Amino acid sequence: SSSLSRFDPQIAEAIADEVVRQQDHVELIASENYASPAVMEAQGTQLTNKYAEGYPGKRYYGGCEHVDVVERLAIERACALFSADYANVQPHSGAQANAAAFMALVSPGDTVLGMSLAHGGHLTHGAAPNFSGKHYHAVQYGLDEATGQIDYAEVERLANEHRPKLIVAGFSAYSQVVDWRRFRAIADSVGAWLLVDMAHVAGLVAAGLYPSPLPHAHVVTTTTHKTLRGPRGGLILSASGDEALYKKLNGAVFPGQQGGPLMHVIAAKAVAFREAMNQDFVRYQEQVIVNAKAMAGTFLERGYDVVSGGTEDHLFLVSLIRQGITGKDADAALGRSHITVNKNAVPGDPQSPFVTSGLRIGTPAVTTRGFDAEECERLAGWICDVLDVLARGEDTAAIEADVRQRVGELCTRHPVYPTPRQAAAVPA
Ligand code: PLP
Repeated sequence: SSSLSRFDPQIAEAIADEVVRQQDHVELIASENYASPAVMEAQGTQLTNKYAEGYPGKRYYGGCEHVDVVERLAIERACALFSADYANVQPHSGAQANAAAFMALVSPGDTVLGMSLAHGGHLTHGAAPNFSGKHYHAVQYGLDEATGQIDYAEVERLANEHRPKLIVAGFSAYSQVVDWRRFRAIADSVGAWLLVDMAHVAGLVAAGLYPSPLPHAHVVTTTTHKTLRGPRGGLILSASGDEALYKKLNGAVFPGQQGGPLMHVIAAKAVAFREAMNQDFVRYQEQVIVNAKAMAGTFLERGYDVVSGGTEDHLFLVSLIRQGITGKDADAALGRSHITVNKNAVPGDPQSPFVTSGLRIGTPAVTTRGFDAEECERLAGWICDVLDVLARGEDTAAIEADVRQRVGELCTRHPVYPTPRQAAAVPA
């Protein structure tokens, strides 16, 4: 047994239980994925022991010669992957990357325009309880409720009315292609900076399957753990060529927002960027989109509403308003069926943000474990089976047990971290 299980059996057991949960449940949370063994190996190294405040070649601590190699490689690879000429690989998370970008671009009290949380934006895009809504004068845009698409005319109107210093584009729950160029034109028309948070689609962008915001935004932020499939963390990029801005961004991350960088995580980010340069990664992202379209199509066939009518990326929103089901109840029933999704507000939602009338469904994780389009269609059908019973107001215990059984078989066929023997046993 490992020293962890001997020294701390409670923690070791909770970790072991989580490994089993990840194997035995179908993961459809759009922001989750399974990092590769190489990424996890890099993250679980002695690099966690090292203080390295500052940047490669300009550290406040001695002994940084090896971590400098790691950080330089991570920066080089991030720039190559996204055709950027600036990368900061130190943000501990997506939220911290956004906090640093705000700090570099605007001052407290300035007006910022971002997408509302209820319409698919992130907390850090100006939501009231977040730093971005508390320290700045946040104005929020949203979707056109009829089409489920971003209401660019509203963005333009709000920009003209409020003259923001910063416009934030990007999302946590949007299934269509964002017109980055149009956002830049609106920003230019009022003299605002454009920050694009591509956290959800970074992997699709890296694979060339979703338009890159790099040619349009002054600054691009992302997480590294969603479609990009790296370790949990943040990243700031730019291709603006504005050296003064790059200096400000570096200063905003350290010493502005953070102390010592997590060098073990930066090593894992570098590994993930290298993985993302492979042709295998492009094929993976293609399958992510194929699987999302297959699932969305099944919901439509079964009579459920998909916001904006379908998907062009890795996720979609199912609106349950017509069925009168809450997102909260649907999420709970699917959880008991070993299918993990998240409740999500949808356009025109009559329910509170805690209850909602929608589900957000994403395919990055199931695609990593090898589900194909046919399996994704079947899976979507099982979800509809559970929702149908909920919609009739009947007891869901029997259908949940039935789906749990089918989910178990599918999960066994596709191990998350297959041993060599399991990998060989999976039929092609
Ligand atoms: N930006 C977007 C668009 C996100 O969806 C998220 C996370 O869900 C974040 C930022 C925040 O990332 P983190 O959870 O790493 O702080």
